[in-house]
Amino acid sequence: MASSPMADKDYLAKPDYVPESTRAQVSGTSGKTILVAEHAGFCYGVRMAVDKAFELAHASRCCNSDNSCSSDAQQPATMANTSDKPVYVLGELIHNPQVVSRLRDMGVKTVACVDDIPAGSTCLIRTHGVDPGHIDTAQARDIDVTDATCPDVRRVQDSAKQLAEEGYVVVIVGKANHPEVIGIKAHCERIEGARIVTVTSVDEFDEAFAGVSKNRIGVVSQTTQLEEAFKQIVAHAAQQCRELKVFNTICPATFKRQSAAEALAKQVDIVVVVGGKNSSNTGHLAEVCRNNNTPALHVETAEELAQYKDVLEAHQVIGVTAGASTPDWLIQAVIGYLEALGSETGVSAAEKLDSGRRSVNNAQTLAHPV
Ligand code: SF4
Repeated sequence: MASSPMADKDYLAKPDYVPESTRAQVSGTSGKTILVAEHAGFCYGVRMAVDKAFELAHASRCCNSDNSCSSDAQQPATMANTSDKPVYVLGELIHNPQVVSRLRDMGVKTVACVDDIPAGSTCLIRTHGVDPGHIDTAQARDIDVTDATCPDVRRVQDSAKQLAEEGYVVVIVGKANHPEVIGIKAHCERIEGARIVTVTSVDEFDEAFAGVSKNRIGVVSQTTQLEEAFKQIVAHAAQQCRELKVFNTICPATFKRQSAAEALAKQVDIVVVVGGKNSSNTGHLAEVCRNNNTPALHVETAEELAQYKDVLEAHQVIGVTAGASTPDWLIQAVIGYLEALGSETGVSAAEKLDSGRRSVNNAQTLAHPV
């Protein structure tokens, strides 16, 4: 069956949008109340990167003179194209296994190392950014580089580099093994004599600075850090050093999702957090809920909820939120599952919503949730 670039993007996002208008109270057929966080799901950086990946995937599969695609979007691409190049992503494009798998089915390959990309291919740089040395290597090997680094991640890279250039010991508040942090660090390391430490807590700060001068400290944050942890480390650093320069580089999308998760946690009995288990920002949303004494279940798909059926049935008011790398179709599937809990008729609450404020089948008209 023929498919168009838009059809694939629609599959990923549009038919399953969770519109702003539903981010309120929804009553399931069991009489349960389901509340959806005001901000949840794809942020603009992730959406841009995914859109770019789909565009490239389609271009690489186009083999008709009119540039229309003839391969089925559900099948792995053959790459038997006449005009375009195979597409590789250096590291996972986003931290959502379902989206990555969908792209893989379309022929977009994920590789760990630039050496694994054949010359003459296209290399897509993920939202988290990479070591700039990898981009130099790719370009030197005749690989086209399409950079989908999120502008907010680029801001951290630039801020950290600036601090290193100004001679501060650069503190990156974030997980040392996270791809974004590895990329930020690599940008700093290009500055001769740069000193960089990576911490996630006050204790780690003290460990990292044992025997290191604390005269001048510059701080940036991984974009998806918990704001509370960032503030604690900055306050601690302020007591320790003579000069402190801070760039709060937690991105607005992360901040909005954490604030919305906190507000949600205060209104519900339990929260279902949807998103990749490898997604740092999704994990932090669960942490925010638990810090507010509300239990949180972190799942990637609606199917995973079956194992928690008894727990969910024991609660009356259930919240739903999702990380910035979670597509709307996964969120909507979770809402559908919760709405149907205890349902005798099998009528989904999505259908009930139809008779209210909007129509799921008319999803093309729905607004983006970010
Ligand atoms: S979470 Fe923030 S930094 Fe990360 S891709 Fe989204 S907007 Fe960009």
